[in-house]
Amino acid sequence: MTAEEWLAIKNHDESYNGKFYYGLRTTGIVCKPSCTARACQARNVVIFPSIEDALRDGYRPCRKCRPDQPGFQGAKPELAQRARKYLTEHAMEPFRLEQIAEALYVNKSYLARTYHEVVGQTLLETHSAIRIGRAKELLTHMELSVTQVSFQCGFSSSSYFARVFQKVTGVNPTEWRTAYLKKLEQAERVD
Ligand SMILES: [Zn+2]
Repeated sequence: MTAEEWLAIKNHDESYNGKFYYGLRTTGIVCKPSCTARACQARNVVIFPSIEDALRDGYRPCRKCRPDQPGFQGAKPELAQRARKYLTEHAMEPFRLEQIAEALYVNKSYLARTYHEVVGQTLLETHSAIRIGRAKELLTHMELSVTQVSFQCGFSSSSYFARVFQKVTGVNPTEWRTAYLKKLEQAERVD
């Protein structure tokens, strides 16, 4: 173990997650550098370059920091991540907090609070951003009208679509498309 690795473990330094894993000879458990589950002494620490190496040597993944689950960072970030995944998969459906909370087996106000705390955005803002991201992509297809784009992104009306689009991007869909075309023309001229 290097001094740097030991320092990372002692400070539970998240920025080292994924760079190495550490096992404890005394418990046979392997953790991420950021884990706060156990205090340890340097002489009991074994460093592994990957989680696979640790598992091959018979170490068991810690239940608190879950080094065997790459996306897992703790209960709150994990919930936020699941919520984001749900929103991405259900972007076409109208936004209903109750439905999301039910699907994730959590209380709806806890979900809303936790998501905002972790992501710095509300669930509805993420939902809109995902839809608008798709809309931008579709708007580059000139054969689709703005109304068609709005329906294909799950909006119930094109005026509501225009409002949300403006809020997220600062311009309305038609303006966005015009600006996109201009950029395209300029790029072609440069070529
Ligand atoms: Zn751990």
